[in-house]
Amino acid sequence: MGEIVQTLQLPQEARLNRFINDKDLAKIIKQFGTPLYIIDEQTLHMKAKELLDAYKKFKGSVSVAYSIKANFNPAVLKAFMKDSVTFDATSTGELYFHNMCKGNPDDIIYTSVTEDLDEYEYALKNGVRKIVVSSYNGLINLIEAAKILNVKPLTMIRINPEVGVKAEIRASYRHGKFGVPFNGNKVDSAAYMVKEILSNDILSFEGFHFHLGSQITDYTCFVNALEKLDSFMIKMKKENPTFNINTLDIGGGTPVFYGENVPTPNYMALSMMEKLNSMYDTHGIFSLIIESGRYLTAEACILVSKIINMKEYGNDKFVIVDAGYHILLDSALLKQEYPQEIVFTDRKKINNNNMNNNNMNNNNMNNNNMNNNNRIHLAGRLCDTYDVFPTSKVSQLNNAELNKYVLFYNVGAYSIVFNMPFHCQTKPPVVMKSNGQYVLVRKTTTIEHLFAEEGGNL
Ligand SMILES: *Cc1c(COP(=O)(O)O)cnc(C)c1O
Repeated sequence: MGEIVQTLQLPQEARLNRFINDKDLAKIIKQFGTPLYIIDEQTLHMKAKELLDAYKKFKGSVSVAYSIKANFNPAVLKAFMKDSVTFDATSTGELYFHNMCKGNPDDIIYTSVTEDLDEYEYALKNGVRKIVVSSYNGLINLIEAAKILNVKPLTMIRINPEVGVKAEIRASYRHGKFGVPFNGNKVDSAAYMVKEILSNDILSFEGFHFHLGSQITDYTCFVNALEKLDSFMIKMKKENPTFNINTLDIGGGTPVFYGENVPTPNYMALSMMEKLNSMYDTHGIFSLIIESGRYLTAEACILVSKIINMKEYGNDKFVIVDAGYHILLDSALLKQEYPQEIVFTDRKKINNNNMNNNNMNNNNMNNNNMNNNNRIHLAGRLCDTYDVFPTSKVSQLNNAELNKYVLFYNVGAYSIVFNMPFHCQTKPPVVMKSNGQYVLVRKTTTIEHLFAEEGGNL
Protein backbone atom coordinates (compact mmCIF):
# COMPACT_ATOMS: atom_id res chain seq x y z
CA MET A 1 0.00 0.00 0.00
CA GLY A 2 2.91 2.31 0.77
CA GLU A 3 3.91 2.40 -2.89
CA ILE A 4 0.88 4.38 -3.92
CA VAL A 5 1.89 7.88 -4.87
CA GLN A 6 -0.70 10.51 -5.37
CA THR A 7 0.42 13.53 -7.29
CA LEU A 8 -2.73 15.59 -6.94
CA GLN A 9 -2.80 18.67 -4.75
CA LEU A 10 -5.80 18.25 -2.49
CA PRO A 11 -7.53 20.69 -0.20
CA GLN A 12 -7.13 20.07 3.50
CA GLU A 13 -8.85 16.96 4.81
CA ALA A 14 -9.77 15.76 1.33
CA ARG A 15 -8.22 12.64 -0.06
CA LEU A 16 -8.67 10.50 -3.11
CA ASN A 17 -8.94 6.79 -2.80
CA ARG A 18 -6.03 5.41 -4.82
CA PHE A 19 -6.43 1.79 -3.81
CA ILE A 20 -4.24 0.35 -6.56
CA ASN A 21 -0.49 0.87 -6.87
CA ASP A 22 1.30 1.54 -10.17
CA LYS A 23 2.63 -1.98 -10.47
CA ASP A 24 -0.76 -3.63 -10.09
CA LEU A 25 -2.32 -1.01 -12.31
CA ALA A 26 0.15 -1.74 -15.11
CA LYS A 27 -0.57 -5.44 -14.74
CA ILE A 28 -4.34 -4.99 -14.82
CA ILE A 29 -4.18 -2.68 -17.83
CA LYS A 30 -2.03 -5.19 -19.66
CA GLN A 31 -4.50 -7.93 -18.88
CA PHE A 32 -7.77 -6.14 -19.57
CA GLY A 33 -6.92 -3.09 -21.66
CA THR A 34 -8.65 0.28 -21.37
CA PRO A 35 -11.11 1.76 -20.71
CA LEU A 36 -11.59 -0.19 -17.53
CA TYR A 37 -13.37 0.23 -14.20
CA ILE A 38 -11.65 -0.97 -11.04
CA ILE A 39 -13.73 -1.34 -7.87
CA ASP A 40 -12.28 -1.77 -4.40
CA GLU A 41 -14.38 -4.06 -2.22
CA GLN A 42 -12.74 -2.93 1.00
CA THR A 43 -13.86 0.64 0.38
CA LEU A 44 -17.46 -0.50 -0.03
CA HIS A 45 -17.35 -2.15 3.40
CA MET A 46 -15.60 0.83 4.92
CA LYS A 47 -18.20 3.26 3.62
CA ALA A 48 -21.09 1.14 4.86
CA LYS A 49 -19.52 1.10 8.31
CA GLU A 50 -18.73 4.82 8.30
CA LEU A 51 -22.29 5.71 7.41
CA LEU A 52 -23.77 3.43 10.05
CA ASP A 53 -21.35 4.65 12.72
CA ALA A 54 -22.26 8.25 11.99
CA TYR A 55 -25.76 7.67 13.41
CA LYS A 56 -24.62 5.89 16.60
CA LYS A 57 -26.04 8.63 18.78
CA PHE A 58 -29.59 7.93 17.67
CA LYS A 59 -31.61 6.45 20.54
CA GLY A 60 -33.30 3.80 18.41
CA SER A 61 -31.87 1.22 16.06
CA VAL A 62 -30.28 2.31 12.78
CA SER A 63 -29.62 0.57 9.51
CA VAL A 64 -28.03 1.65 6.27
CA ALA A 65 -29.83 0.96 3.00
CA TYR A 66 -27.90 0.73 -0.23
CA SER A 67 -29.71 2.32 -3.19
CA ILE A 68 -29.18 -0.28 -5.89
CA LYS A 69 -29.70 2.29 -8.63
CA ALA A 70 -26.26 3.82 -8.00
CA ASN A 71 -24.45 0.65 -9.05
CA PHE A 72 -26.27 -2.61 -9.67
CA ASN A 73 -23.18 -4.66 -10.46
CA PRO A 74 -23.79 -8.08 -8.84
CA ALA A 75 -20.34 -8.08 -7.24
CA VAL A 76 -21.20 -4.77 -5.55
CA LEU A 77 -24.54 -6.12 -4.31
CA LYS A 78 -22.85 -9.26 -2.97
CA ALA A 79 -20.23 -7.14 -1.22
CA PHE A 80 -22.87 -5.09 0.58
CA MET A 81 -24.74 -8.25 1.58
CA LYS A 82 -21.71 -9.10 3.72
CA ASP A 83 -22.25 -5.83 5.58
CA SER A 84 -25.87 -6.78 6.27
CA VAL A 85 -27.14 -3.55 4.83
CA THR A 86 -30.71 -3.14 3.66
CA PHE A 87 -31.36 -2.52 -0.04
CA ASP A 88 -33.39 0.27 -1.58
CA ALA A 89 -34.87 -1.09 -4.82
CA THR A 90 -36.95 0.75 -7.40
CA SER A 91 -37.75 -1.74 -10.13
CA THR A 92 -38.55 -5.41 -10.56
CA GLY A 93 -35.24 -5.69 -12.41
CA GLU A 94 -33.39 -4.58 -9.28
CA LEU A 95 -35.39 -7.10 -7.26
CA TYR A 96 -34.33 -9.79 -9.72
CA PHE A 97 -30.66 -8.82 -9.35
CA HIS A 98 -30.95 -8.81 -5.55
CA ASN A 99 -32.66 -12.18 -5.61
CA MET A 100 -30.12 -13.72 -8.01
CA CYS A 101 -27.33 -12.55 -5.67
CA LYS A 102 -29.08 -14.59 -2.95
CA GLY A 103 -30.27 -11.52 -1.08
CA ASN A 104 -32.95 -11.89 1.55
CA PRO A 105 -36.22 -10.17 0.47
CA ASP A 106 -36.70 -9.07 4.10
CA ASP A 107 -33.77 -6.73 3.50
CA ILE A 108 -35.53 -4.83 0.72
CA ILE A 109 -37.32 -1.54 0.85
CA TYR A 110 -39.23 -1.21 -2.38
CA THR A 111 -39.74 2.39 -3.50
CA SER A 112 -41.15 2.58 -6.98
CA VAL A 113 -42.13 5.52 -9.12
CA THR A 114 -44.52 3.55 -11.33
CA GLU A 115 -46.25 1.61 -8.51
CA ASP A 116 -48.36 -0.57 -10.78
CA LEU A 117 -50.26 -3.67 -9.79
CA ASP A 118 -48.03 -6.14 -11.66
CA GLU A 119 -44.83 -4.97 -10.03
CA TYR A 120 -46.36 -4.97 -6.53
CA GLU A 121 -47.58 -8.50 -7.17
CA TYR A 122 -44.09 -9.46 -8.34
CA ALA A 123 -42.47 -7.85 -5.30
CA LEU A 124 -44.86 -9.44 -2.79
CA LYS A 125 -44.66 -12.81 -4.49
CA ASN A 126 -40.88 -12.64 -4.12
CA GLY A 127 -41.13 -12.04 -0.40
CA VAL A 128 -40.69 -8.26 -0.28
CA ARG A 129 -42.66 -6.85 2.65
CA LYS A 130 -41.54 -3.25 3.04
CA ILE A 131 -43.11 -1.04 0.40
CA VAL A 132 -42.95 2.73 0.09
CA VAL A 133 -45.91 4.22 -1.74
CA SER A 134 -45.72 7.60 -3.43
CA SER A 135 -49.24 8.13 -4.74
CA TYR A 136 -52.83 7.26 -3.92
CA ASN A 137 -53.03 5.19 -7.09
CA GLY A 138 -49.98 3.26 -5.91
CA LEU A 139 -51.62 2.68 -2.55
CA ILE A 140 -54.74 1.24 -4.22
CA ASN A 141 -52.54 -1.05 -6.35
CA LEU A 142 -50.65 -2.22 -3.29
CA ILE A 143 -53.92 -3.01 -1.48
CA GLU A 144 -55.03 -4.98 -4.52
CA ALA A 145 -51.75 -6.91 -4.76
CA ALA A 146 -51.82 -7.64 -1.01
CA LYS A 147 -55.36 -9.03 -1.34
CA ILE A 148 -54.38 -11.25 -4.28
CA LEU A 149 -51.38 -12.69 -2.41
CA ASN A 150 -53.03 -12.61 0.97
CA VAL A 151 -50.12 -10.90 2.73
CA LYS A 152 -49.92 -7.77 4.87
CA PRO A 153 -47.09 -5.54 3.63
CA LEU A 154 -45.49 -2.96 5.88
CA THR A 155 -46.37 0.26 4.13
CA MET A 156 -44.49 3.51 4.26
CA ILE A 157 -45.52 6.76 2.65
CA ARG A 158 -43.03 8.78 0.69
CA ILE A 159 -43.60 12.38 1.59
CA ASN A 160 -42.45 15.40 -0.29
CA PRO A 161 -41.57 17.80 2.50
CA GLU A 162 -41.31 20.63 -0.04
CA VAL A 163 -38.22 22.12 1.56
CA GLY A 164 -35.57 24.08 -0.32
CA VAL A 165 -32.53 21.93 -1.08
CA LYS A 166 -29.05 23.13 -1.94
CA ALA A 167 -27.61 20.26 -3.95
CA GLU A 168 -26.56 19.10 -7.34
CA ILE A 169 -29.72 17.02 -7.70
CA ARG A 170 -32.86 18.17 -5.98
CA ALA A 171 -35.77 15.81 -5.42
CA SER A 172 -37.84 17.98 -3.11
CA TYR A 173 -39.62 21.11 -4.26
CA ARG A 174 -43.20 22.28 -4.32
CA HIS A 175 -45.39 20.00 -6.43
CA GLY A 176 -42.40 17.81 -7.34
CA LYS A 177 -42.45 14.41 -9.01
CA PHE A 178 -41.56 12.39 -5.93
CA GLY A 179 -43.75 11.55 -2.97
CA VAL A 180 -46.91 13.31 -1.85
CA PRO A 181 -47.32 16.52 0.14
CA PHE A 182 -48.34 16.27 3.81
CA ASN A 183 -51.71 17.89 3.27
CA GLY A 184 -53.84 19.07 0.42
CA ASN A 185 -57.34 18.77 -0.89
CA LYS A 186 -56.56 15.74 -3.06
CA VAL A 187 -56.25 12.05 -2.25
CA ASP A 188 -52.55 12.35 -3.09
CA SER A 189 -51.54 13.57 0.34
CA ALA A 190 -49.93 11.87 3.30
CA ALA A 191 -52.85 12.85 5.57
CA TYR A 192 -55.38 11.12 3.34
CA MET A 193 -53.19 8.07 2.67
CA VAL A 194 -52.35 7.49 6.35
CA LYS A 195 -56.08 7.38 7.12
CA GLU A 196 -56.66 5.00 4.25
CA ILE A 197 -53.97 2.61 5.51
CA LEU A 198 -55.12 2.79 9.13
CA SER A 199 -58.74 2.21 8.19
CA ASN A 200 -58.19 -1.10 6.42
CA ASP A 201 -56.86 -4.39 7.65
CA ILE A 202 -54.91 -5.19 4.52
CA LEU A 203 -51.83 -3.03 4.98
CA SER A 204 -49.81 -2.35 8.07
CA PHE A 205 -48.69 1.26 8.46
CA GLU A 206 -44.94 1.35 8.95
CA GLY A 207 -43.82 4.98 8.71
CA PHE A 208 -42.46 7.65 6.43
CA HIS A 209 -39.76 8.09 3.86
CA PHE A 210 -38.37 11.18 2.19
CA HIS A 211 -35.57 11.68 -0.30
CA LEU A 212 -34.42 15.25 -0.80
CA GLY A 213 -31.74 14.88 -3.45
CA SER A 214 -28.21 13.76 -4.13
CA GLN A 215 -24.84 15.29 -3.25
CA ILE A 216 -26.45 17.55 -0.63
CA THR A 217 -23.85 19.79 0.96
CA ASP A 218 -26.08 21.97 3.13
CA TYR A 219 -27.89 19.84 5.66
CA THR A 220 -30.40 22.38 6.89
CA CYS A 221 -32.89 20.87 4.43
CA PHE A 222 -32.87 17.61 6.39
CA VAL A 223 -33.57 19.41 9.65
CA ASN A 224 -36.33 21.43 8.00
CA ALA A 225 -37.89 18.29 6.57
CA LEU A 226 -37.76 16.56 9.97
CA GLU A 227 -39.37 19.56 11.64
CA LYS A 228 -42.23 19.53 9.17
CA LEU A 229 -42.63 15.79 9.56
CA ASP A 230 -42.63 16.08 13.34
CA SER A 231 -45.49 18.61 13.35
CA PHE A 232 -47.38 16.51 10.85
CA MET A 233 -47.02 13.42 13.02
CA ILE A 234 -48.25 15.29 16.08
CA LYS A 235 -51.32 16.34 14.11
CA MET A 236 -51.87 12.79 12.82
CA LYS A 237 -51.68 11.39 16.35
CA LYS A 238 -54.35 13.84 17.50
CA GLU A 239 -56.67 12.82 14.70
CA ASN A 240 -55.97 9.06 14.86
CA PRO A 241 -55.13 7.72 18.32
CA THR A 242 -53.84 4.46 16.77
CA PHE A 243 -51.30 6.36 14.66
CA ASN A 244 -47.75 5.21 15.28
CA ILE A 245 -44.57 4.81 13.24
CA ASN A 246 -42.04 1.99 13.37
CA THR A 247 -39.64 3.29 10.75
CA LEU A 248 -38.33 6.61 9.54
CA ASP A 249 -36.47 6.18 6.29
CA ILE A 250 -34.25 9.08 5.29
CA GLY A 251 -33.26 9.00 1.62
CA GLY A 252 -29.87 9.63 0.08
CA GLY A 253 -27.88 12.80 -0.31
CA THR A 254 -24.69 12.13 1.65
CA PRO A 255 -22.09 13.89 -0.51
CA VAL A 256 -18.76 12.79 -1.93
CA PHE A 257 -15.58 14.77 -2.53
CA TYR A 258 -15.08 15.66 -6.18
CA GLY A 259 -12.92 18.73 -5.74
CA GLU A 260 -14.82 20.90 -3.27
CA ASN A 261 -14.69 19.98 0.39
CA VAL A 262 -17.92 18.40 1.55
CA PRO A 263 -19.21 17.77 5.06
CA THR A 264 -18.70 14.27 6.46
CA PRO A 265 -21.53 11.82 7.31
CA ASN A 266 -20.68 12.42 10.98
CA TYR A 267 -21.36 16.08 10.53
CA MET A 268 -24.53 15.34 8.62
CA ALA A 269 -25.77 12.98 11.34
CA LEU A 270 -24.84 15.41 14.07
CA SER A 271 -26.80 18.22 12.48
CA MET A 272 -29.94 16.06 12.50
CA MET A 273 -29.42 14.14 15.73
CA GLU A 274 -31.05 16.52 18.18
CA LYS A 275 -34.21 16.62 16.09
CA LEU A 276 -34.21 12.86 15.48
CA ASN A 277 -33.85 12.06 19.16
CA SER A 278 -36.51 14.55 20.18
CA MET A 279 -38.85 12.90 17.66
CA TYR A 280 -37.98 9.56 19.24
CA ASP A 281 -38.95 10.97 22.62
CA THR A 282 -42.20 12.42 21.31
CA HIS A 283 -43.38 9.59 19.09
CA GLY A 284 -42.03 6.47 20.73
CA ILE A 285 -39.79 3.71 19.52
CA PHE A 286 -38.94 3.80 15.83
CA SER A 287 -35.98 2.65 13.75
CA LEU A 288 -34.03 4.82 11.42
CA ILE A 289 -32.96 3.86 7.94
CA ILE A 290 -30.29 5.90 6.17
CA GLU A 291 -30.28 5.35 2.43
CA SER A 292 -27.28 6.01 0.25
CA GLY A 293 -26.10 5.20 -3.21
CA ARG A 294 -23.42 7.76 -3.98
CA TYR A 295 -21.60 7.82 -0.66
CA LEU A 296 -21.44 4.04 -0.43
CA THR A 297 -20.02 3.44 -3.89
CA ALA A 298 -18.46 6.55 -5.48
CA GLU A 299 -15.02 6.43 -3.90
CA ALA A 300 -14.72 2.69 -4.41
CA CYS A 301 -14.19 2.96 -8.16
CA ILE A 302 -11.61 4.34 -10.57
CA LEU A 303 -12.05 4.51 -14.32
CA VAL A 304 -8.82 3.96 -16.23
CA SER A 305 -8.55 5.40 -19.71
CA LYS A 306 -5.72 5.92 -22.12
CA ILE A 307 -4.64 9.06 -23.95
CA ILE A 308 -4.98 8.11 -27.58
CA ASN A 309 -4.79 11.42 -29.35
CA MET A 310 -3.66 14.97 -28.72
CA LYS A 311 -3.72 18.24 -30.56
CA GLU A 312 -2.93 21.82 -29.87
CA TYR A 313 -3.76 25.20 -31.34
CA GLY A 314 -3.25 28.62 -29.86
CA ASN A 315 -3.43 28.20 -26.13
CA ASP A 316 -5.71 25.22 -26.28
CA LYS A 317 -4.58 21.68 -25.94
CA PHE A 318 -6.91 18.75 -26.47
CA VAL A 319 -6.15 15.51 -24.72
CA ILE A 320 -8.30 12.75 -26.16
CA VAL A 321 -8.90 9.55 -24.23
CA ASP A 322 -10.49 6.23 -25.09
CA ALA A 323 -13.32 6.93 -22.61
CA GLY A 324 -16.33 9.15 -23.23
CA TYR A 325 -19.62 10.05 -21.67
CA HIS A 326 -21.01 6.72 -22.84
CA ILE A 327 -19.18 5.27 -19.85
CA LEU A 328 -19.27 8.34 -17.59
CA LEU A 329 -22.61 9.91 -18.37
CA ASP A 330 -22.79 12.37 -15.49
CA SER A 331 -19.81 14.24 -16.88
CA ALA A 332 -22.13 15.33 -19.71
CA LEU A 333 -25.52 15.18 -18.01
CA LEU A 334 -24.61 16.96 -14.77
CA LYS A 335 -21.25 18.41 -15.79
CA GLN A 336 -19.89 16.29 -12.96
CA GLU A 337 -16.27 17.20 -12.26
CA TYR A 338 -14.48 13.98 -11.49
CA PRO A 339 -10.91 14.34 -10.21
CA GLN A 340 -8.53 13.18 -12.93
CA GLU A 341 -4.89 12.25 -12.74
CA ILE A 342 -2.36 11.31 -15.39
CA VAL A 343 -0.32 8.22 -14.63
CA PHE A 344 2.65 6.40 -16.09
CA THR A 345 3.34 5.63 -19.68
CA ASP A 346 3.18 2.49 -21.67
CA ARG A 347 6.85 2.70 -22.77
CA LYS A 348 6.75 0.26 -25.61
CA LYS A 349 3.91 2.03 -27.33
CA ILE A 350 5.60 5.38 -26.90
CA ASN A 351 8.67 4.13 -28.70
CA ASN A 352 6.59 2.84 -31.57
CA ASN A 353 4.74 6.05 -31.68
CA ASN A 354 7.87 8.15 -31.78
CA MET A 355 9.11 6.18 -34.71
CA ASN A 356 5.85 6.50 -36.57
CA ASN A 357 5.24 10.15 -35.90
CA ASN A 358 8.78 11.22 -36.27
CA ASN A 359 8.76 12.51 -32.74
CA MET A 360 6.90 15.63 -33.67
CA ASN A 361 4.17 15.36 -31.08
CA ASN A 362 5.84 14.28 -27.94
CA ASN A 363 8.63 16.77 -27.78
CA ASN A 364 6.41 19.71 -28.46
CA MET A 365 3.95 18.56 -25.88
CA ASN A 366 6.63 18.13 -23.30
CA ASN A 367 7.93 21.62 -23.82
CA ASN A 368 4.50 23.07 -23.60
CA ASN A 369 3.80 21.25 -20.41
CA MET A 370 6.07 23.76 -18.75
CA ASN A 371 3.76 26.46 -19.88
CA ASN A 372 0.75 26.63 -17.61
CA ASN A 373 -1.13 29.01 -19.86
CA ASN A 374 -2.22 26.11 -21.95
CA ARG A 375 -5.86 25.47 -21.60
CA ILE A 376 -6.08 21.71 -21.35
CA HIS A 377 -9.29 20.07 -22.45
CA LEU A 378 -9.83 16.44 -21.62
CA ALA A 379 -12.03 15.06 -24.35
CA GLY A 380 -13.62 11.71 -24.94
CA ARG A 381 -13.70 9.55 -28.04
CA LEU A 382 -17.28 10.34 -29.07
CA CYS A 383 -18.14 12.55 -31.98
CA ASP A 384 -20.33 14.76 -29.82
CA THR A 385 -19.90 18.29 -28.51
CA TYR A 386 -20.80 17.22 -24.97
CA ASP A 387 -18.02 14.68 -24.86
CA VAL A 388 -15.50 16.90 -23.09
CA PHE A 389 -14.90 16.01 -19.46
CA PRO A 390 -15.27 18.85 -17.00
CA THR A 391 -12.15 18.90 -14.84
CA SER A 392 -12.19 19.05 -11.09
CA LYS A 393 -10.28 21.67 -9.09
CA VAL A 394 -7.87 18.94 -8.09
CA SER A 395 -7.45 17.41 -11.54
CA GLN A 396 -3.85 17.25 -12.71
CA LEU A 397 -3.50 17.13 -16.47
CA ASN A 398 -0.35 19.15 -17.13
CA ASN A 399 1.78 16.10 -17.78
CA ALA A 400 -0.51 14.65 -20.41
CA GLU A 401 1.27 12.67 -23.12
CA LEU A 402 0.20 10.18 -25.71
CA ASN A 403 -0.12 6.66 -24.30
CA LYS A 404 -0.19 7.77 -20.69
CA TYR A 405 -3.27 6.87 -18.70
CA VAL A 406 -5.90 9.08 -17.14
CA LEU A 407 -7.50 7.92 -13.90
CA PHE A 408 -10.97 9.25 -13.16
CA TYR A 409 -11.57 9.03 -9.42
CA ASN A 410 -14.79 8.51 -7.48
CA VAL A 411 -16.80 7.13 -10.37
CA GLY A 412 -18.45 4.25 -8.48
CA ALA A 413 -21.92 5.79 -8.40
CA TYR A 414 -24.11 6.49 -11.40
CA SER A 415 -21.54 5.58 -14.05
CA ILE A 416 -21.43 1.84 -14.77
CA VAL A 417 -25.24 1.73 -14.67
CA PHE A 418 -25.42 4.31 -17.45
CA ASN A 419 -23.10 2.54 -19.90
CA MET A 420 -24.46 2.85 -23.43
CA PRO A 421 -23.39 1.75 -26.88
CA PHE A 422 -23.41 5.18 -28.57
CA HIS A 423 -21.04 5.02 -31.57
CA CYS A 424 -21.17 1.21 -31.44
CA GLN A 425 -19.08 1.16 -28.28
CA THR A 426 -18.77 -1.96 -26.16
CA LYS A 427 -19.06 -1.93 -22.37
CA PRO A 428 -15.73 -1.85 -20.53
CA PRO A 429 -14.78 -4.67 -18.19
CA VAL A 430 -15.10 -4.23 -14.44
CA VAL A 431 -12.40 -5.61 -12.16
CA MET A 432 -12.84 -5.85 -8.40
CA LYS A 433 -10.06 -5.78 -5.86
CA SER A 434 -11.03 -8.25 -3.13
CA ASN A 435 -8.63 -9.42 -0.44
CA GLY A 436 -5.67 -8.13 -2.42
CA GLN A 437 -6.67 -10.03 -5.56
CA TYR A 438 -8.00 -8.51 -8.75
CA VAL A 439 -11.01 -10.39 -10.06
CA LEU A 440 -12.91 -9.79 -13.27
CA VAL A 441 -16.53 -9.17 -12.21
CA ARG A 442 -17.89 -7.98 -15.56
CA LYS A 443 -16.54 -9.02 -18.91
CA THR A 444 -16.33 -6.50 -21.68
CA THR A 445 -19.07 -6.89 -24.24
CA THR A 446 -17.97 -7.50 -27.81
CA ILE A 447 -18.84 -5.72 -31.01
CA GLU A 448 -20.30 -8.99 -32.32
CA HIS A 449 -22.53 -9.13 -29.25
CA LEU A 450 -23.71 -5.58 -29.87
CA PHE A 451 -24.42 -6.28 -33.53
CA ALA A 452 -26.50 -9.29 -32.56
CA GLU A 453 -28.24 -7.41 -29.76
CA GLU A 454 -29.23 -4.68 -32.19
CA GLY A 455 -30.88 -7.25 -34.43
CA GLY A 456 -28.05 -7.56 -36.93
CA ASN A 457 -28.52 -11.31 -37.21
CA LEU A 458 -32.31 -11.35 -37.46
C1 LIG B 1 -31.39 7.88 -5.59
C2 LIG B 1 -32.01 7.61 -4.28
C3 LIG B 1 -31.22 7.42 -3.16
C4 LIG B 1 -29.72 7.53 -3.20
O1 LIG B 1 -29.28 8.82 -3.32
P1 LIG B 1 -27.70 9.15 -3.15
O2 LIG B 1 -27.61 10.60 -3.21
O3 LIG B 1 -27.02 8.44 -4.27
O4 LIG B 1 -27.29 8.61 -1.84
C5 LIG B 1 -31.84 7.13 -1.97
N1 LIG B 1 -33.18 7.03 -1.88
C6 LIG B 1 -33.98 7.19 -2.95
C7 LIG B 1 -35.42 7.03 -2.80
C8 LIG B 1 -33.42 7.49 -4.19
O5 LIG B 1 -34.22 7.69 -5.24
